Amino acid sequence: MEVFKNVLCPFCGCCCDDLEVEVDSNKIINVKNACALGRGKFLSIGEHRLLKPLVKVDGELVETDLEKAVEKTVEMIKNSSYPVFYGFGCASCEAIKLCLEMADLSGGLADNISVVCHGPTILGLQDMGIPSATLGQIRHRADLIVYWGCNPVEAHPRHTIRYGPLSSGRFVTGRKSRRMVVIDVRKTPTATMADVFMQVKPNSDFEILTALRALVNDLDLEVEEVDGVPVAKLEELADMMINAKFGALFFGLGLTMSYGKEHNIEAAIALVRDLNKKTKFVMIPMRGHFNVTGANEVFTWQTGYPFCVDFSMGYPRYNPGETSAVDVIARGECDLLFIIGADPCSHLPHYIVERLKNVKLVVLDPSITPTVKMADVAIPVAYVGIEASGTAYRMDGVPLQLRKVVDPPPGILSDVDVLNRIVRRLK
Ligand code: SF4
Repeated sequence: MEVFKNVLCPFCGCCCDDLEVEVDSNKIINVKNACALGRGKFLSIGEHRLLKPLVKVDGELVETDLEKAVEKTVEMIKNSSYPVFYGFGCASCEAIKLCLEMADLSGGLADNISVVCHGPTILGLQDMGIPSATLGQIRHRADLIVYWGCNPVEAHPRHTIRYGPLSSGRFVTGRKSRRMVVIDVRKTPTATMADVFMQVKPNSDFEILTALRALVNDLDLEVEEVDGVPVAKLEELADMMINAKFGALFFGLGLTMSYGKEHNIEAAIALVRDLNKKTKFVMIPMRGHFNVTGANEVFTWQTGYPFCVDFSMGYPRYNPGETSAVDVIARGECDLLFIIGADPCSHLPHYIVERLKNVKLVVLDPSITPTVKMADVAIPVAYVGIEASGTAYRMDGVPLQLRKVVDPPPGILSDVDVLNRIVRRLK
């Protein structure tokens, strides 16, 4: 039996890099240190596995070989008038770079899943900048942790232990040395751990953030409550924030996808900026998939823009709302959707999935997903971070190495190897 230490978990944006994976005869038999989500991924890679390339013939998916599937993919990209390359939350940075090359070569559009999660965060930080830090700095120094519109206990289960209120840092140790605040529309499992839980009405975040800014700036609010939250409670929270030695605000889709969207993020950034006149405060978005941050990083190195990049004019163009994958599909402008590291048929709105019936679909995925079932071409690939190595960016923008601990099933290549074959032929 071989034990791989310090393995990175390819599940959520925490990218925990302290896993121990026990492997016997190329089979993962145990995973230590991971939460149930991460452990489940390592131990279930054999389930619902896509083992052979598939192509659609007369409406039915039939097995084929890799060469024919690659050939068919290249032919479809060449014949497409406007292909869209989408996904990337669960792909390595190396694979994302190759997909951007394909989008450039074919004059198509490249977009990543942040368009339906933290896109507003990106728009907000482009307008305002973001006072941020690494998760390590927060673990070692933060004495106040605020979770706004996110539920790490269920979505990022080790966040509170590795980086949040329960973590043991060098200068601040354990739960007793830290205060914890949760702001959400419902009492989540994370909220039950908090010192202060502030329940807000749905879509009232902008008003609450603006009221907090006023209080942090020593202004009086001449009302009894703001959107149902008593001003006394807001004053208590503002005092806690000002009196923290080092505060950290983590925020999720409850803030980015409620009314106001990027304006909520701008208001949160403005609040943290105001707090920095009185103390030290930082903020980090709770990114979902393990490399959605990497998708934004690679898009930005390669094109100058973090998502929604259109190459149809022969150069990268960026106009979220016009050049996002969802908008392009909704307007019926794309005739080919190339997907890697995502399952849009499970995640996109139903009316967008309906539109995909009129679009050719190429999917690279290790497992049989609803998107694979709708595909015209589906090519199996190795699980990156388990069966193939690569690079991923943690939610705080720190790049980390994904490791290979077992070989993929016979005949299955990494997504980088498959993409290299496609790019070579396209050229
Ligand atoms: S918290 Fe996320 S990265 Fe860490 S072990 Fe759990 S699923 Fe994996």
